[in-house]
Amino acid sequence: MTPTFDQHLHSWNSFDCQTAPLENVRRALDVGLAGLSFTEHFDTHPAEWDGCVYDDLKIEREIGELREQFGDRIFIGKGIEVCYQPERMDFILEFLEAHTFDVVLLSVHWAAGRAVHLKDQFKGMSCDAYLRFYLEAVRDCTEQLVQMKRNGHQPFRILGHLDYAKRSASRFFGFDGQLDEPKLLDEILRNCLEANIIPEINTSTLRQNLSSSMPGIEVVQHYAELGGTMMSFGSDAHRAEDIGAGAEHAIGLMKEAGLTHLANFEGGELCATAL
Ligand SMILES: [Zn+2]
Ligand SMILES: [Zn+2]
Repeated sequence: MTPTFDQHLHSWNSFDCQTAPLENVRRALDVGLAGLSFTEHFDTHPAEWDGCVYDDLKIEREIGELREQFGDRIFIGKGIEVCYQPERMDFILEFLEAHTFDVVLLSVHWAAGRAVHLKDQFKGMSCDAYLRFYLEAVRDCTEQLVQMKRNGHQPFRILGHLDYAKRSASRFFGFDGQLDEPKLLDEILRNCLEANIIPEINTSTLRQNLSSSMPGIEVVQHYAELGGTMMSFGSDAHRAEDIGAGAEHAIGLMKEAGLTHLANFEGGELCATAL
């Protein structure tokens, strides 16, 4: 099997997770991963910042201890899942600059000031309108990344779950279909390629009774058609037993779409691994 890193997962260093990092590493070894990177939530929206438990010193220390314990048996990375907040971007960029990461993941959890997982913030909106509203926010986010790249900055390496609203749309509306927004998805993927940010295949939806990952095959195929060659894998595990879950499925989608490599990151550098 392709040497695979799970590059989206959480531990007790995220506000919504209690799992000991050690348990995650043990599980990663058990399921045969070549590596795992801890991507703890970094939520800077004023409504969430007080609850954000991100503590870089503690994370550094814990990962350092795990690296000593496990040596070269498995790659243990320090990542971060930055919640996209355009109003807080200066603060976010300063923070990233002042700390070191193996991989920086950027995720859109808020769309134009509204928390995507809270239904009362989308009162009266249809399922289609909700999904469109979300994808527009991702399009705007990736446009900003293109601008940053043009100015010589590339602080983010992976775009998390690019159609994340699918997950809440399943809760709010019973949605479990294909996204009918080809133009927006096309713009998002083109922006990713131009900004040189790698989209991930996030398999958490497969554990939540949805029939496709985020994104699903049609988006992966379109990415390949546009010239994309690689994506990242992330389970988005919040429990040790979910580490690496769906890796084979995600790699199968990449191959089916004609991608040639898996994007693993070490020390901030992309290691393209042949599929
Ligand atoms: Zn996320
Ligand atoms: Zn996550």
